[in-house]
Amino acid sequence: MNHIESYPALTQSNLEYVIQEDPYHIKQKYVEKETTNLSNYQNYVLQAQSSKHWKEVEFEGFTLPAQAQAKAYCLKWVSWGCDNTKEHPKNKHYAEHEIKTCKVASCPKCFESWINRQANRSTRRFSKFVEKKQYNFRHIILSPPSNQVEKMSYNSMKKMLSIVLKIANIKTCAVVFHPFRFQDQRKSMPYFSPHFHLLAYGKVTNTTEFHNKTKFGTNNGWLIKNKGNMESEVDIFNCVRYLLSHCGVRKKTHAIRYLGDISYRKLKVEKEPFLHNCPYCELPLRIFRIKFDSKHEPPPIDHVGLWESDCFEAIDPHDPEAKIPFYQMKEEPENNRDYEEEMIYSFEELLRISLNLPKISDRYNELSMFDHVTGRKCQKITDF
Ligand SMILES: [Zn+2]
Ligand SMILES: [Zn+2]
Repeated sequence: MNHIESYPALTQSNLEYVIQEDPYHIKQKYVEKETTNLSNYQNYVLQAQSSKHWKEVEFEGFTLPAQAQAKAYCLKWVSWGCDNTKEHPKNKHYAEHEIKTCKVASCPKCFESWINRQANRSTRRFSKFVEKKQYNFRHIILSPPSNQVEKMSYNSMKKMLSIVLKIANIKTCAVVFHPFRFQDQRKSMPYFSPHFHLLAYGKVTNTTEFHNKTKFGTNNGWLIKNKGNMESEVDIFNCVRYLLSHCGVRKKTHAIRYLGDISYRKLKVEKEPFLHNCPYCELPLRIFRIKFDSKHEPPPIDHVGLWESDCFEAIDPHDPEAKIPFYQMKEEPENNRDYEEEMIYSFEELLRISLNLPKISDRYNELSMFDHVTGRKCQKITDF
């Protein structure tokens, strides 16, 4: 059996500690339970979508993830593509079908993709920061005194946290607020028990000293719990993903806050490149309608690659009535069509096409200056 100190921080919490009435006087115990073969992260994701109790909890506008309504287009397919067929092999259309997600934490369909995106971004941020550093980030839990939380607002907790961080000697960290803990092993029954998860860099004041120094007035002290170091990028990714799966979600409040040397102001991390260009002619992609009446068979719903060009029809974003064609698998396929189309208004997609159109026409102009493809290829050679 390992020592507690050497548990990976991967936060999976078959290591979650037992909920105790008075954590100040009872020695904390870690209990390992092999109740199910689902990882804890998956457990939370499952409950987010199925537990009716998750809907019932709320604290100052904070809810648990995935408890709002999905939009009409969530998790439907969009046909991105390029119709510059002259420059494609066999004069075919290039299509890159993609699943649309609204990227919102409260969406019951898209919250996992929100979690993964955020976890990716955090991992990039942390990895960049520790590149030439000696230590790793450490997962820490800070809990305000349990006999005080009923009276505290989120803002007062947040203010107190910043004082507590100074006492703990934590300057650089990411903070995730959890308004709730769970009564049962399945994580289906949340109850109000606010605390902060931190991924902190640097040395942390030892527990007893910290606890004594955070007794303000007649209050009990804050509890600090060290869940171990993040040894690798995978540890960080899994930890953030786990933390976000049941964090407090509120409009206009970041689910993860970065403080100190990893703040947005102090650490610039390059955005993930947004690649949405044709691999054959490099034109930006735009959205097409799939034609089911063409003499050719329509492409599969998840198609990426070349296809017969008469199966596609461009969407004009400047049409005042413009809507975007979204596609979804049918329950029962009929007449050779296993998916169906729905025209839905989506500002984001319309905007993306209108931003791409000028780039596309510039590029066409550029191309038309060279009558021969070989002429254009020569142009690409910058030094002789
Ligand atoms: Zn959604
Ligand atoms: Zn192309």
